[in-house]
Amino acid sequence: GGGVGGDVELAWRPWGPGAAPWLAVTGTNGKTTTVRMLASILEAAGLRTAAVGNIGVSLLDAVLGEREYDVLAVELSSYQLHWAPSVRVHSAAVLNLAPDHLDWHGSMEAYAADKGRIYEGNRVACVYNVADKATEDLVREADVEEGCRAIGFTLGTPGPSELGVVEGLLVDRAFVENRRENAQELAEVSDVRPPAPHNIANALAAAALARAFGVDAKAVRDGLKAFRPDPHRIEPVEEVGGVTYVDDSKATNTHAAEASLAAYEPIVWIAGGLAKGATFDELVQKSAKRLRGAVLIGADRALIREALARHAPEVPVVDLDRTDTGAMSEAVREAARLARPGDTVLLAPACASMDMFTNYNERGDAFADAVRALAATGDA
Ligand code: ADP
Repeated sequence: GGGVGGDVELAWRPWGPGAAPWLAVTGTNGKTTTVRMLASILEAAGLRTAAVGNIGVSLLDAVLGEREYDVLAVELSSYQLHWAPSVRVHSAAVLNLAPDHLDWHGSMEAYAADKGRIYEGNRVACVYNVADKATEDLVREADVEEGCRAIGFTLGTPGPSELGVVEGLLVDRAFVENRRENAQELAEVSDVRPPAPHNIANALAAAALARAFGVDAKAVRDGLKAFRPDPHRIEPVEEVGGVTYVDDSKATNTHAAEASLAAYEPIVWIAGGLAKGATFDELVQKSAKRLRGAVLIGADRALIREALARHAPEVPVVDLDRTDTGAMSEAVREAARLARPGDTVLLAPACASMDMFTNYNERGDAFADAVRALAATGDA
């Protein structure tokens, strides 16, 4: 036993009826962001709550500590779900399902099955991503409590029992009277930070869980407005010579990098690191037309270089064959050389960082330091 997953099982077991219910979030990407948005919304509703899981307060601290909570916003990884077979939550969302950590789970099916566990025994709502059919399949396969509803979120116009977007507004057609005909405005798209498409999806998922818990529309808006993203998640660093530098060091897999590459154009892309068994063809194919150039770093950079050669041979590529502490500075200088005014230099590595850095935080800090050094010298 033990380990992070075992802790979830432990945090759950002693707490029967009367303990704070859990609103849970899993998915390949966006968990932390969504859980923090959710906690912000619940707080705006005047509820005693915390974002718990992999960051901030640990689950065990939250359930065993002195503070009392009305409801917890809980991030659960697929490992944790694997080791926590008894957990039953009020409502849960699976944000997306893309291949990640397959080296650990063995197969996509095993990975999906672990993620799908989050819906087992849900009481009120199973929230899924309309654009990601695999998440809907998991809802269909789950054994839930009588009366539990399937709620979709979509960046398009929502159907009945969905939350979605209509003319720049986040709209609820699930938790309203007469959902065949009625819709409730929740917030404006511009209330969501950053307003990148994948992040609006995160906001809709958070809103769906909050609404499942009975939170009113105004608290959803207030909570989203009060939310500030964590560092290294599509974080604008500085503008130098008309070029914007953005740190998405947290994009540690291809699915995350694809989301942030979709949010800008044209892009000079800084990528590379540890691939963890990933392939880059799909990512490069989908993003090729947005790329001004690419600067590759890290142990598995050849995999990205080869994908670029196959699908985007016209994109200039700088391949940096060094892994010392100065490598990121050189990467940023090379990116600056490729960029033109109006471009975005985007650190979205699509890889883990441990070949060159302690973690993604250190990688993002190295990028930001290099950008500031560039601003100090190169801008004049
Ligand atoms: P997690 O906790 O699941 O790792 P984070 O909220 O920390 O997720 O975000 C991780 C990375 O995934 C970020 O770099 C961000 O750009 C990207 N991301 C966030 N939300 C989504 C999403 N819904 N779909 C795809 N990528 C996303």
